[in-house]
Amino acid sequence: MRRKVVAGNWKMNKNIHETANLIAELRERMKDFKNQVDIVICPPYTSLVVAKSLIKDSPIKLGAQNMSQYDDGAYTGEISAKMLTAIGCQYVIIGHSERRQFFKETDELINAKIKKALSEGLTPIVCIGETLNEQEAGITDKIITTQVKGVLHELKAAEVEKLLIAYEPVWAIGTGKNATPEQANQVHKLIRKQVGQIYSWQISEKLIIQYGGSMNAQNASMLLSQTDIDGGLIGGASLKADLFMAIIQAGAEASG
Ligand code: PEP
Repeated sequence: MRRKVVAGNWKMNKNIHETANLIAELRERMKDFKNQVDIVICPPYTSLVVAKSLIKDSPIKLGAQNMSQYDDGAYTGEISAKMLTAIGCQYVIIGHSERRQFFKETDELINAKIKKALSEGLTPIVCIGETLNEQEAGITDKIITTQVKGVLHELKAAEVEKLLIAYEPVWAIGTGKNATPEQANQVHKLIRKQVGQIYSWQISEKLIIQYGGSMNAQNASMLLSQTDIDGGLIGGASLKADLFMAIIQAGAEASG
């Protein structure tokens, strides 16, 4: 059985003081947590060092929201994979739709970032998902298939075993609209099937595919109990300890 992973993408929210408060609240609520799901928080870069020390001896793991495809050099404003591992990050979100939309990231660039992250021992959370226009045009499957092929280009099977995919329909991110559990599960099955075709069914059966897009305390149970939904990438609801904990709890219950 695949272990569920619930990750919080804090986006450009929480300074270091607010980070400390939120982690303290989460830890307080996690006292009786039995470790049934993996929990990741992805604060902004400026909070990562502080967050790393504050999550010590807790079930929480640390991730970043982005990274450069380069090792080092004259890339003003960028952060490398090596910098992230040096402070104890284990995960990195790659190719979030906001990076695609506002910073023009392409599947090709995302593929390069995934390769770099893996070569440095980071676990990429690779985001894919169709826009509202694409969904309305009935081309979700085509878009997803193209994105899976593009982001995994020339990755070896051993590398694909180390990454997570987050299916995030763009029309559901931060909008309060979410895919129905059945709709989301269908797309997850499609992703799994495609990875199986490119690699092997053993690899696709083990692949963790998170859902992201307005997951909240109310809809988490239904989403996380679907056969092919292995966790969540949570935006808005990860900024409040009680809401994030409710989703973690739903993941734990769905894990049985
Ligand atoms: C996200 O940004 O990855 C996300 C899923 O956001 P939200 O939960 O706010 O829709």
